[in-house]
Amino acid sequence: MRKISILGATGSIGQNTIDLIRRDSGAYDVVALTGGANIARLAEDAISLNADLAVTAYPNRLEELRTALAGTNVEVAAGQQALIEAAERPADWIMSAIVGAAGLAPGLAALRQGTALALANKESLVCAGALLLDTAREHNARILPVDSEHSAIFQGLVGEDMSAVERIIITASGGAFRDWPLEKLADATLEQALHHPNWEMGQRITIDSASMFNKAMEVIETREYFGVSPEQIEVLIHPESMVHALVGFCDGAIMAHLGAPDMRHAIGYALYWPDRRDLPVERLDLARIGQLNFATPDPARFPALGLAYRVMSRGGMMGAVFNGAKERALDHFIAGKIGFLEMASIVEHVLDHFEDQSGLIDDAMTLDNVLRIDHLARQRADMVMTKQTG
Ligand code: NAD
Ligand code: MG
Repeated sequence: MRKISILGATGSIGQNTIDLIRRDSGAYDVVALTGGANIARLAEDAISLNADLAVTAYPNRLEELRTALAGTNVEVAAGQQALIEAAERPADWIMSAIVGAAGLAPGLAALRQGTALALANKESLVCAGALLLDTAREHNARILPVDSEHSAIFQGLVGEDMSAVERIIITASGGAFRDWPLEKLADATLEQALHHPNWEMGQRITIDSASMFNKAMEVIETREYFGVSPEQIEVLIHPESMVHALVGFCDGAIMAHLGAPDMRHAIGYALYWPDRRDLPVERLDLARIGQLNFATPDPARFPALGLAYRVMSRGGMMGAVFNGAKERALDHFIAGKIGFLEMASIVEHVLDHFEDQSGLIDDAMTLDNVLRIDHLARQRADMVMTKQTG
């Protein structure tokens, strides 16, 4: 039996992963499941999947988890250190699906045991890509991309030589506000931002899709995973979300990856890799679909994209600044303290502030340094917000 753990089991990616595991439950020995505030979900899944350990990120929820799992064989724990210990429990395959920079330390802990890490937690790659990749190399671990675009690129590169790759194109649905004029975007509400046309996802990534911060992070993710230069990475608006990414080669050929917008494809590809298995996803009927559309994103309406290229050209630990500031700006938008467009302007101001701080940004990329910069970027975002909102 394959030993597996799911970090962020109660979220959208975690639940889709569990859906695949359940279809073939005799094949898996579930080691650890982690979650946050949804204790009922965590406990129910830990029982039904017969997990060894259930961890909540929040120490003040430990008693509730203990009560929910009383009389079972499931061990319980809580807090940051417990998440890391869950990731250290020996497993053959670990899903990293915690949202935000909080997923970085557990992800690194998983890699240190030389496992296969299915990486949905894109924030960790954005804020510490080189650290994750070096840790994987050092411990003979495998990182398998779980983002629809990066899984698509990964599949498009099977059997190919990277030196023949000319460009990589990732598609963007355009999110909730694809067709909104700039004037209207300033007043976009949280509720409106949460209406994604094609994908069912967690709250934060859904808003990031509307602002294109999600695509901005994915551009950086592309660079980290595949080692291409920023000029080789393009973003294309594609409202149908059926072509997930395209790889262009030096002979002019373009390999496109198509599939229904369902994360169980990317999760399943990482779960069964290097094999392919039957997956419960819709089969595309292209004759019925009839037409697929593509367009160039408007940089004025979606300034986040330009910021990603700025982060990549600056290099060092600028990704940690970018991600920390973005996470904080998003917190403020969710709390109703700032407008939709202010998220990008706050992040831009934070980048301005850190860009020349070479002592900080160009220091060694260690976990401690990344977390320190993440913290400073969040602090700076708060200061910028206070200034902007008076
Ligand atoms: P979600 O909000 O639905 O779930 C997040 C999970 O992380 C939950 O289990 C939650 O309990 C846990 N969590 C939240 N804060 C935590 C903290 N501080 N410490 C520990 N655990 C915490 O999010 P999601 O949509 O499942 O996304 C998970 C990750 O996958 C994100 O990095 C996201 O960008 C990425 N991703 C998601 C999708 C998607 O379709 N949902 C697609 C591509 C990539
Ligand atoms: Mg994606």
